[in-house]
Amino acid sequence: MYDYRIWVEGEFLGAFPRQAVIVHAERQPPRSLAYFCPHCGELWARAEVDGCTNWEIGGGYCKDHPGPSPYTVAGSLLLAWQPEYSALLLSCQRIVQWEYDRHMEYYQRRIRND
Ligand SMILES: [Zn+2]
Repeated sequence: MYDYRIWVEGEFLGAFPRQAVIVHAERQPPRSLAYFCPHCGELWARAEVDGCTNWEIGGGYCKDHPGPSPYTVAGSLLLAWQPEYSALLLSCQRIVQWEYDRHMEYYQRRIRND
């Protein structure tokens, strides 16, 4: 098991253990994820694996920049292509609150149609 620690905008929001991941039929330790906004260039969140110095870009748009798609929940930490990881994120109360706030902002934007 590997310990993940989640940081958003410099604030610690939670931690959880995660098993090794399967990549190309090979069991590997999970990599640390950096959330990079392609609009403003900020690294606004990190999912840091304890002791892991291998990073990859995980998520995208920060909470202030929804991007070109009308379906992007700006600032969401959830990754559609990693449902197990997303479920682990939602085991942390502060991350549930973060996601709730981002999804409510999304619906407000949709109602205003911006
Ligand atoms: Zn941004």
